[in-house]
Amino acid sequence: MAAREPNKHPMPTQEPSVRAHNFDEVALGYTAEIAAEEAQRCLNCKNKPCVQGCPVNIDIPAFIAQIRNNNPEGAYDVISKTSSLPAVCGRVCPQENQCEHECTLSVKLGLEPVGIGRLERFVADNHRLNSKTVPVRPAPNGHKVAVIGSGPSGLTCAGDLAKLGYSVTVFEALHTAGGVLVYGIPEFRLPKSIVAAEVEELKALGVEIFTNVIIGKTLTIDELLEQGYEAVFIGSGAGLPNFMGIPGESLCGVYSANEFLTRSNLMKAYLNDSRTPIMKGGKVAVVGGGNVAMDAARTALRLGAEKVTIVYRRSLEELPARKEEVEHAQEEGIEFRLLCNPTEILGYKNPDDPRDPKNGFVKGMRCIKMELGEPDERGRRRPVEIPGSDFELETDTVIIAIGTSPNPLIKDTTQGLEVNRRGGIVIDENCMTSRNGIYAGGDAVTGAATVISAMGAGKAAAKAIHTALT
Ligand code: FAD
Ligand code: SF4
Repeated sequence: MAAREPNKHPMPTQEPSVRAHNFDEVALGYTAEIAAEEAQRCLNCKNKPCVQGCPVNIDIPAFIAQIRNNNPEGAYDVISKTSSLPAVCGRVCPQENQCEHECTLSVKLGLEPVGIGRLERFVADNHRLNSKTVPVRPAPNGHKVAVIGSGPSGLTCAGDLAKLGYSVTVFEALHTAGGVLVYGIPEFRLPKSIVAAEVEELKALGVEIFTNVIIGKTLTIDELLEQGYEAVFIGSGAGLPNFMGIPGESLCGVYSANEFLTRSNLMKAYLNDSRTPIMKGGKVAVVGGGNVAMDAARTALRLGAEKVTIVYRRSLEELPARKEEVEHAQEEGIEFRLLCNPTEILGYKNPDDPRDPKNGFVKGMRCIKMELGEPDERGRRRPVEIPGSDFELETDTVIIAIGTSPNPLIKDTTQGLEVNRRGGIVIDENCMTSRNGIYAGGDAVTGAATVISAMGAGKAAAKAIHTALT
């Protein structure tokens, strides 16, 4: 066997000192030359362990072989048989825990895995920029399906059904389609033009998208069924932010990460001429350690914060965010206060002047240091407070990124729709809810998870709907 390059080809990126002040994409993508060299590292394993690691089972060695044959469009055809959002997944999927985690190069040979995600991104970008093929609208099959939510689960379900000839209508509460891909994940990680291009492809297939329609307020699911939709897919995500329940959370300058990111991304507060209000500058503390916390911290930095601190109650090892995002945040100068947890958010109050404009705004956060104790039910060591270790962190803004839950609106307005104790919609093995003809998937079922798992759920539901209706 010929010797392999031990490491994946590095991703070209913007310089940390430059990118910390702009919203342009951080990772610049492989060139054709780098992609061809990286593709040479693949062993084309017969048992395809990487495919088992991919939640939607993309034929990874087959698409990499097409890159080796200098046929990126052929590679795109292989990927698009199973994935409808490759440009998105190539950018944001946690490949290190999925396909790349199983790659023979690392499992058996102790080398770095093939850069599968980077190659997927290369193929998808090449297709978007160079392909002239227009999606062909299939002949209608006479069936009508409604999809609630235009995140990855809803878009995938809608796309798969449209390809089978269904008349599909997507109802989206916000004014732009894309779900978390447009309101949550920032431009510097996932340019919105990429999501918009994916949405346009769906429209070209005949999918109708109605924005500014909140199911449960504008219309109910039962009204959709009365309008003749034969099946409904709920892909409404998990957009309800969790709070800590500590004193001071209602002070001015405290945001949920969802609100902060929505203001910046969807409402374009990052543009100089934007009229969307958002706290810019000063000191910012972000509570949490997931991708959402990293995105909020790096957004605050780009909005002009003089200092951004991540406050996380476990250690770096347990930090749930993608490794690459943590490294990028560290390179950009984000400070990590690990093993500590907020106990109170402190507000400003001028005893001599009740009209002082600073009254009611955040001035700091009281925290306590933690140590790691016994493992919890998920095997992660439980953080335990160290008595008497309280300290004060000076900050002007606090962004809380400790998770989200499914919004109860749809459950509350749909009789007989069963949810679990976390608010996730209960489904059976055919993606059907407790109501006949109503299907669900993505974060609305699992709670906050990943783009690829939401996409996989949308695919499975489309298949189940097709089976049921034909
Ligand atoms: P969503 O993407 O949440 O879409 C749901 C849509 O439904 C929304 O557009 C919402 O407005 C709409 N909706 C809700 N209620 C209604 C209603 N009543 N009527 C009509 N429409 C409604 N995952 C990764 O894999 N990698 C990452 O790097 C990553 N980073 C993330 C960063 C952030 C800031 C966030 C918030 C999440 C991140 N995730 C990441 C998670 C991932 O984005 C989600 O798991 C995924 O988007 C879930 O898809 P979904 O289709 O289930 O829901
Ligand atoms: Fe190639 Fe790694 Fe998949 Fe083997 S496991 S086929 S080396 S990507």
